[in-house]
Amino acid sequence: MEDMNYQLSLLNSMNQRLLDNDKMFRMICGTSNNTFMYYDYATDDFEILGNSDQFFHFPMLKGSDLGRFVDSFLAEDRKKLADTLYPETRGKKHSGCECRMEGGKWVGIEVTVSYDDEGHPSEKIIRLHDSTREREQTENLKYMAYYDTLTGLYNRNYFVRLLSDWVRKAQDEHAGIEVLCLKIDDFKNINEGLGMIAGDELLQNLGLHLREFQSEDCLVSHFHSNVYFVAFYRQSNDCGKRFFKNLAKHLKQPVPITGRENVLITVSGGQSRYPEAARNSIELINCAEIVLEQQKKDNIGGLYYFEAPVLDDFLQSVQLENELKLAIEENSFELYYQPQYDAESKKLRGVEALIRWKNQEGYYISPSRFIPLAERDGLIGPIGKWVLEEALRSYSHWEKNFHYPMVLSVNISAMQFRKSDFIPTLFELIETYDIDPAFLELEITESVLIDDFDNVLEQMRKIRESGIKISLDDFGTGYSSLSYLKSLPIDTLKIDKSFIDTVIDDSSTRIITESIISMVKKLGYETVAEGVENDQQFNYLKSIDCDNIQGFLLGKPMPAAQIEELLKIQAS
Ligand code: C2E
Ligand code: CA
Ligand code: CA
Repeated sequence: MEDMNYQLSLLNSMNQRLLDNDKMFRMICGTSNNTFMYYDYATDDFEILGNSDQFFHFPMLKGSDLGRFVDSFLAEDRKKLADTLYPETRGKKHSGCECRMEGGKWVGIEVTVSYDDEGHPSEKIIRLHDSTREREQTENLKYMAYYDTLTGLYNRNYFVRLLSDWVRKAQDEHAGIEVLCLKIDDFKNINEGLGMIAGDELLQNLGLHLREFQSEDCLVSHFHSNVYFVAFYRQSNDCGKRFFKNLAKHLKQPVPITGRENVLITVSGGQSRYPEAARNSIELINCAEIVLEQQKKDNIGGLYYFEAPVLDDFLQSVQLENELKLAIEENSFELYYQPQYDAESKKLRGVEALIRWKNQEGYYISPSRFIPLAERDGLIGPIGKWVLEEALRSYSHWEKNFHYPMVLSVNISAMQFRKSDFIPTLFELIETYDIDPAFLELEITESVLIDDFDNVLEQMRKIRESGIKISLDDFGTGYSSLSYLKSLPIDTLKIDKSFIDTVIDDSSTRIITESIISMVKKLGYETVAEGVENDQQFNYLKSIDCDNIQGFLLGKPMPAAQIEELLKIQAS
């Protein structure tokens, strides 16, 4: 009896534990977003655990009820779902899929079937879970991986991938591909003027327009900021050109911006073609961008085509830039000086400092080639400072030793001139070398005046107030407007060599040169003719009252030591 009691209480407690376990199990299922459907093949009964309301609102009791469940899914997903729900029909143990219900909800379905010893299915568990959020997250991630969120166009990575696929296809099909790089001109200023939000709207608007052309054989992508790429597969030879022409026409209408005046923009384009320019996607993209950057300097708003010399030029520039950086570190520049003479008295008026750079292979590289490069990547700062300091150092030495009053002309590049530390550095150096500012002349070109005219004028005035002179170099090659000359705070005007070259043979050049000189004289500026190579030119310039002459006829640029020889002659 005691034994019976013991067995009974043991059973009771086991039963209680089972009930507790069952309760706990149901609670866990109720709080997770999973629903479990347990199916017993022997009885054809379903038991449902967890919150099934999110998936169906009818009693799921017998095997045949699954049909109603399948019908609550989108028609196109039903076959896939039915296959998943009955893995036993294919002798399988597991199956799974993701399907969409009528209301749009995504449901993940996993099915596990157990088999008895004879290989007949005995039990089945179907797990359902709402995967809408995960699905959205993956869609978002996918979107972010392939698309640019600002414009909805393909992003850079995806464009490169698709273009690589195209290149492989084109190899097999012997087809052609055109790649077009598009940049909104002057975007930095537009963006600064409009503010970033309106700038983004502008990028979006252009993106929307470009998106209209997206098709099976036209890929459109937004790389970053103001850069878009378009690629055409196996279309007519001039599809890029036609596309660009239509785009330029479209942009004749200003782009609307919310709450602001509409903005007129222009776009420049560079184009490369497979297989002529390059044979892989990255190079095609690079070629299109290089050609655009190289040529845009001359004329914005145009379309430029890639040709091999452009790439060679570019690669040479890159190499030169690297060598230039090294040259700055190793201070491997020299300064030459070219004499300028008074046309009437033939006395030395002064010297122009001209930089010389011998590269590692021992070749002199023309400053006309490396100064623009230095301007482009910010190296002009240290180079310009070195020139100024070296010139002032030589000058102070000459002054002490020869006491010959002459002008020292130093070329100042536009970029260097506009730097905020330019004037402080200049004044500091003058003080260090104890130079009389009246003998220093800075040569600037009209390009200084292109941007930020008022600020530059202010700088020029400040410089002149200190007594330093300003000379306008290369006159006749830039704006060349005589009418604006009178508003410039300058002392000297240098007539460009291109005038001097033709002045003897070409009567219209003569008329222009004469009118320049007579007007400049009235304004009280001194004149210097540069690039004078023969007596005919010299005599003519003298006859029309040009004040000073500089050129190979009277002296080539030379090292400081040779200038000392000249000074000795002048002083004697
Ligand atoms: P630029 O300022 O117009 O200098 C005059 C150029 O003409 C010099 O070339 C000079 O050697 C050359 N030249 C002078 N007389 C004659 C002549 O009779 N016939 C011929 N064929 N050429 C003559 P360079 O030294 O090669 O300089 C070229 C340009 O590089 C300069 O043109 C100037 O824009 C720039 N540059 C030179 N040195 C400096 C510098 O120290 N700083 C800056 N920012 N630019 C410099
Ligand atoms: Ca010059
Ligand atoms: Ca010049």
